[in-house]
Amino acid sequence: MISEKDTICAIATGTGSAGIGIVRLSGPEAIGIAGKLFRGKRRLSELKSYTAAYGHLVRPAGTGREENEEILDEVIALVMRAPHTYTTEDVVELSCHGGPLVMRRVLDVLVCAGARLAEPGEFTKRAYLGGRIDLTEAEAVMDVIAAENERALTASLQQLRGGLRDEVSDLREKILYETAYIESALDDPENYSLEDYADRIGTVLAESKKRIRSLIAGAEEGRMLRQGIRTAIVGRPNAGKSSILNLLLGEERAIVTEIAGTTRDILEEKAILGGVQLVLVDTAGIRETSDTVEKIGVQRAKAAVETADLILLVIDAAEPLSGEDKELLRSISEDTASAEPGNAADEKQGSGQNHAPILVLLNKNDLDTVVSAKDLEQILKENGIGLFGDTDASKRTGRVLEISAATGDGKDRLAEAVQELFFSGKLTDSQEQYILNARHKEALQDALSALSRVSDSVDAGVGEDFYTIDLLAAYEALGRITGETLEDDLADKIFKEFCMGK
Ligand code: GDP
Repeated sequence: MISEKDTICAIATGTGSAGIGIVRLSGPEAIGIAGKLFRGKRRLSELKSYTAAYGHLVRPAGTGREENEEILDEVIALVMRAPHTYTTEDVVELSCHGGPLVMRRVLDVLVCAGARLAEPGEFTKRAYLGGRIDLTEAEAVMDVIAAENERALTASLQQLRGGLRDEVSDLREKILYETAYIESALDDPENYSLEDYADRIGTVLAESKKRIRSLIAGAEEGRMLRQGIRTAIVGRPNAGKSSILNLLLGEERAIVTEIAGTTRDILEEKAILGGVQLVLVDTAGIRETSDTVEKIGVQRAKAAVETADLILLVIDAAEPLSGEDKELLRSISEDTASAEPGNAADEKQGSGQNHAPILVLLNKNDLDTVVSAKDLEQILKENGIGLFGDTDASKRTGRVLEISAATGDGKDRLAEAVQELFFSGKLTDSQEQYILNARHKEALQDALSALSRVSDSVDAGVGEDFYTIDLLAAYEALGRITGETLEDDLADKIFKEFCMGK
């Protein structure tokens, strides 16, 4: 039976060989257990919090193959006392030599001396259970460790500082206040009036729903920050798709994943552009030169439109626009026309429609060009694609950029456009951005539905006592984000995704 009172231990640093490796202990017996095995000038129990001691870690006599006490390694022991530690418990970190075998043996003796091997994420779980951090911050820890690009890292660090927690807590407080007010007014009508209350709660509901919607919108950004922006490069043969692909990949073409199980294996490659990660989808199709039909890519473009977050349409600006160019644009914009503006059903299902923006790349601008940005902007408009920045923007937006895959001119402009399109510009340190995940999104959608039910009740003119049930449902749903509403196994599920030793 696993107990939260156990003293736990784990290797906190990476697995392979390294100069130094850290073994971490946390729990009521951390200092006692490490102290039994530590030999140095000072005893660990005498050390003040946040002080370190040099010494040796031993296997006690009679516990190993050797009869006498055996020195395992030279170590620095850092003692941190509860409650001001990562886990809020007593913590000891032993810096040993970073070989897998050495650390394994250190772990072994710690377990023999009474510690238990930690579960993945158990240190962070204790920080959560100890009340030092909430679930959003715990998840941010995981995101900081997993961040593959600067933007994801910056956003995770912001979330770790409690930004999302504060926003959600503030929303909950407002909702709770209204619930309490209604209850009080029903109990004590002499002192609390419900006259004109429908107006007041109407304002609160509208504001809260707006804030929740903007958090939900951020969940898409969170996915793109974490996993990268799925980017499709389309264009007619010889427009310069492979050259653009190579320009984007630059030196960073190391990560290649192959997804099997599709009719043709799809090759995905990752590129970092202006601190943002792009996942270039179906790059195998671009590299294929033999299949002309495939290369024209109308079919491919259609498929790409369905799954991509961003479409890069490459046009050879040194040649007059061809029928193929126009056909491609038309096919991409086709489903724009059928896209309905957001409605209540949309709200329940999340973003629903795919409205991936199009960046039209007028390539080969190092040559004499015959196609201008103005021409293309006109064609975009004719196809019902709003220019990015238009206030009456239709669902899909586009922008035209001049670029040269050959010289690299325009790559910076492309990076800026991507930043603007997806993350409202460059992320500054003071700007709040959270990495929302599917769990957050679900809770936010539940909260939004509950608040919409309150709005319906208000509109229908039913009694105020009906409001409170749904207000409380919204309050509870939001509490799931921070962990204040307890759900069975929720914390366990979240912490299982952590790496060992964190
Ligand atoms: P794809 O068929 O769309 O993948 O096009 P490629 O990337 O294979 O490019 C077709 C031809 O155009 C090749 O000969 C490239 O060298 C050339 N090309 C691509 N981009 C540029 C550019 O920016 N400037 C110039 N001058 N040539 C380019």
